[in-house]
Order: sequence, then C-alpha cells, then structure tokens
Amino acid sequence: MTMTTDIKITKINQSKFEGINLDNITFGTVYSDHMFFCDFKDGKWQQPEITPYQPLQLDPSARVFHYGQAAFEGMKAYKDTNNDVWVFRPEENWKRICFSAKRLAMPEVPKEVFMNGLKTLLQMDSQWVVPGKGNSLYIRPFIFATQAGVSAAPATEYKFMIICTPVQAYYKGGDVKVKISDHYSRAANGGVGATKAAGNYAAQFYPTQKANEEGYQQIIWTNSTHEYLEEAGTMNVFFRIGDKLITAPTDERILNGVTRKSIIALAEKEGIQVEVRKVSVTEVIEAAKTSNLKEVFGTGTAAVIVPITGVGYKDDHYDLPKLENAYSTMLKEQLLAIQYNEAEDIFGWTQKI
Ligand SMILES: *Cc1c(COP(=O)(O)O)cnc(C)c1O
Repeated sequence: MTMTTDIKITKINQSKFEGINLDNITFGTVYSDHMFFCDFKDGKWQQPEITPYQPLQLDPSARVFHYGQAAFEGMKAYKDTNNDVWVFRPEENWKRICFSAKRLAMPEVPKEVFMNGLKTLLQMDSQWVVPGKGNSLYIRPFIFATQAGVSAAPATEYKFMIICTPVQAYYKGGDVKVKISDHYSRAANGGVGATKAAGNYAAQFYPTQKANEEGYQQIIWTNSTHEYLEEAGTMNVFFRIGDKLITAPTDERILNGVTRKSIIALAEKEGIQVEVRKVSVTEVIEAAKTSNLKEVFGTGTAAVIVPITGVGYKDDHYDLPKLENAYSTMLKEQLLAIQYNEAEDIFGWTQKI
C-alpha cells in the first residue's frame, strides 16, 4: 500500500487561471489546472498521478461505454477569509464511492489514494478555490471500467480520477417546482438507487425532460407503487408540515446524502422536531390543501438547500407560500457558516487542506 501513497506529479507549464473570467462561466465548463488519477490493473491499484488536465485516451471497446460500470461523487472545497481551504466530511464521500463501486462490481478505492489524491490536488490547485461566500471548487471523484473488450463481464481494469471545476451557485435562484412522479421510477429495492451510479442519472434525464415540458424543474421520485415520496431530482427531500421536518429514511432506493444528514443534525440542534420516516403522497397533498405544508426543500452538495416553490401531482398544482422564517434559509446559513469556517464546527465536519 505504501507505493500508492506516492503521487507522481507533472505540473502544468502555465496556469490557465489568469485568463478566466469566473463571473462568466457556466457550471462545469472550466476545469482546474490539474487532474488526479490512479489505475487499477493486474488486481491492484497502481501508482497515482497528477498531471495537467487533459483528454483521456480509451479503447472504443472500453467497458464503461457498453455496460456502464461507472460511479461518481460530488464534494466541494471552500476558502475562508484567511485563504485557508476546507473540505466538508470528505470521508463520507470516500465511503460512498466504495459502496457504489462494490455494488457495480468495481474495486473499492483505497482510503489513502482518495484522501491523498484529494489533498494534493487541492493544494496544487488552491487558487481555483475562489474566496467569497457562495464560491467554491466543485470536486468530482469518479471511477469507471477502462478494460477493452465487449464481453459482458466485470472489467479487470479501472480508472479512479478526481477533477475540479469552479462554481458560484448551481441553481441560481429562480423557481424550482417539482412534479410528483406517478409513473417513472428511479430506483427499486435490490437495485442501485442508493449508489451514485452514473446510469441512475441517465435514467432520470428523460422523465425530467417530460416534467420540464410541463413547467416543472424537477421530479419528486416515489417508490414503485408511487405512494411514498423519496427524492427530489438528484437531491434528498424534506417536508415541513406544521413545525415538524420530515424526511424519508435512506434505504436501498434512497441515496444517503451527506447534506441530508448534516441538515438533520443541525435541525435537531436547533430544537426542530425531525421525523425520519416514510412520507406518503396523500399526507403531503392533504397538508398542501389545508395550508399545513409550510416548506419543501431538496438537499445536496451542489446547491446545499433548494427551496421548492410549488408541487404538482397528477392534474393539480399547489404553490407553497414564501415564509419569513423558513427552516431552509436558517439551516442553509448555518451549514454554509460551518463550511466556510465562519462558525464553530461543533460536529467536527470540516478538514483543512
Ligand atoms: C448525490 C445525491 C444526493 C445528495 O447527496 P450529497 O451527499 O448531499 O451531495 C441525493 N440524491 C441523489 C440521487 C444523489 O445522487
């Protein structure tokens, strides 16, 4: 294992950073100077490397293209007012990519490969973590099958990589209305819904496009009988009914979001009553009809908390009121304050790079 901890580094000749106008970029279109990768072959992880960010060369028969062995993570680095760089609960992302990899018959990524790669890459590209609240560097670790040959079996060769892209805010304000799915499903028991398998996203695009055509930005995914509410788009989802906050338990269909569990902890610390239990469509629609549905919001690393402004179900639509003291605003501010090292990190969530 000691071998994998030494990273072979090739630095870029001239940083691309100076030439970039960060105010004017679309999320995920510009990448930082370097990328990290580590190949798995001959039954073991090889020497990790950092090189200038560049295209990959893969055989057209590489199995990722044919059988979809691919999984990813999403995390962020934040800069505080002292110019120190912080990451938020990175071990959770490492554990989760191992969980996803295992379910897709891919090798688990050794912890030191993940953590050392992350840390070294962020140290090298730290100027890409733009200071200022709301700015961050989005980090995308991912693993995929590189072995050539279209026989339908798990590959014997893989690549684990980390790339980074500067962000301001993922969903730039605006209304986010959601449609409760009464036909399509994103996950089933025994399936891969709880993983960040690339294919989960592919399967969501078409139903989401159809919802877009009806004026909704995202879908609230339901269980196979369409009775229980599970996730909003690619975020976990919370419902505030009266003063209670309710979210579904994570299981084989629901992704165990880092933001979700951090929000639960912060809400409980604030004395908010949090119920982690199944949430039925009937309960939420009833609450909407009687004006007891105060808030619905999604949680995820990219956007932290996305307040939902309206919910559609079959032919009906329910607009949600704009609240003065929304839980979503308060909890988002608290979480951001911890992530940007402005508030005391009582939970021990952040790590300095
Ligand atoms: C990544 C993801 C989330 C959010 O997870 P975080 O760890 O909070 O970023 C929620 N649901 C799905 C389906 C996801 O892929």
